[in-house]
Amino acid sequence: MITIQGKGVSTGVAVGPLYFYRRADLTIRRTEVADKEAEWARFKAAQAKAIEQLGELAEKARAEAGDEAAMLFETHQMMAEDLDYEEAIENGIKGEGINAEAVVSETGEQFAAMFSAMDDAYMQARSADVKDVSGRIVSILLGAVQGGIDSPVPVVLAADDLAPSETVQLDKSKILGFVTSYGSGSSHTAILARTMGIPAIIGVGDQVKPEYEGREVIVDGGTGEVVVDPDDATRQALLAKREQLLKRQALLEQLKGKPNVTKDGQTVRVYCNIGNPEDVHTVLENDGGGVGLFRSEFLYLECDDYPTEDYQFEAYKKVLSDMGDKEVVIRTLDIGADKQIDYFNLPKEENPAMGNRALRICLNRPEIFRTQLRALYRASAYGHLCIMFPMVTSVWEVKEAKKMCEQVKKELTAEGIPFAEDVQLGIMIETPAAAVMSDRLAKEVDFFSCGTNDLTQYTLACDRQNNDLGRFFNPHHPSVLRLLKMVADNAHKNGIWVGICGELGADLELTETFLSIGIDELSVSPRAVLPLRQKIRETDVRQCREKLVNDLLSDQTQI
Ligand code: PEP
Ligand code: MG
Repeated sequence: MITIQGKGVSTGVAVGPLYFYRRADLTIRRTEVADKEAEWARFKAAQAKAIEQLGELAEKARAEAGDEAAMLFETHQMMAEDLDYEEAIENGIKGEGINAEAVVSETGEQFAAMFSAMDDAYMQARSADVKDVSGRIVSILLGAVQGGIDSPVPVVLAADDLAPSETVQLDKSKILGFVTSYGSGSSHTAILARTMGIPAIIGVGDQVKPEYEGREVIVDGGTGEVVVDPDDATRQALLAKREQLLKRQALLEQLKGKPNVTKDGQTVRVYCNIGNPEDVHTVLENDGGGVGLFRSEFLYLECDDYPTEDYQFEAYKKVLSDMGDKEVVIRTLDIGADKQIDYFNLPKEENPAMGNRALRICLNRPEIFRTQLRALYRASAYGHLCIMFPMVTSVWEVKEAKKMCEQVKKELTAEGIPFAEDVQLGIMIETPAAAVMSDRLAKEVDFFSCGTNDLTQYTLACDRQNNDLGRFFNPHHPSVLRLLKMVADNAHKNGIWVGICGELGADLELTETFLSIGIDELSVSPRAVLPLRQKIRETDVRQCREKLVNDLLSDQTQI
């Protein structure tokens, strides 16, 4: 038995075989092959596999976003077996004796160039498709595993670290738990693990060794312990703990349908953070009062190219209609920093967390923003939508974003497309600049939602991705809490509501503080709703409000 200590970032106990995430080396080398027939057969097998994968993706897209979304993958399927395309590849392999991956890649480039030189806009758009299809076949030839897991049974997934783009593509039904060498508790991978309700442990360094693959492990996301080859006593103890956690969960179930009200009658809305339309069922299962943060960029991360207006419209519509009359806050695209997307072709930055990201990209590339806003407003006819802009630092950015909303509404009106007239517009407060300027910003919007993950990182100048910063990264730091109080006061002075959608919202040690400063809404991962409701219902803010607020502002506070 080997016991490894990491840092637990998503609670729960999981047991299963350890499996290392497969990340392929996608470098294409050009070589001559001795056996041309065997190479051709290798291509045909990869082509068949690509067609199969595309069929599965088409079905998934159809279920999640409708026929239009599925069509993209069906077009790719047809392209993969296009006779001209196949003939060009056959010539390269059988005629010239070049290896399949080099031939497919070069043929993809040639066809893409040919399509983009055509006059017809539809044919030009096929250029990206043929590149995409070729890329898929090349990945298969190079041994890349779709979604990083090729196992018939669910596994505890080990990796050095996982990028958000990798995490969103994982086959969730195959994952019992996560163990990563690096990472941090407020990274998006940890956030996704919590949303999925899967135990996760980070920061194990090189202690989880490749030779452990296939062996039984138990992970305890509460304590951060990873046990390889557990002995009987340890297995029994951890499985008993799992039972206990399940029992506690069952007790919390009794809180479903009950209000989030303190003993002294203060209510607070408890909403959920989600990353894709399928997460809505866990919101409803856990009795979330609404969606306080839909990270729309995960839709973009799941795609190989810019998601179209219709694709996005279907996804937003699904969330809104599944949530019925409950409020849904959809955040506009927040890429950049750790959420990188290849097809955006963003220049590499020295310091991406402070670079061209989120609303900055949207304002610099208005066509991308416009497509998303059109999809959002169209979807607003199907539910109760609030739109939220991330990474704001200045009033002019908000004014420019609002102007684009007005333009989009005008366009839709002219086209006779229905949309809701009462869509609230809000901003995230996740930079110190926005917090300090919240008195001015409050005059521009209908609500604030504090993104404490970034607000902590920027206020304390501590990279949220860097687990080694340890005690320096302290979201309880009085500077962060004072900013939250300032934001709440400015919101209320201007008659707008204020929420918290960063991970701190679920931190039960701070619930009393948040209630004391008058936070109106807390948006947390779906499984955190009922524990938070329990905490709220046990709290009497009369007893602590004055003391907590005084402590916050006191010059005696321990820093
Ligand atoms: C935040 O910064 O607190 C937030 C909610 O946004 P994200 O974690 O996606 O950056
Ligand atoms: Mg953020």
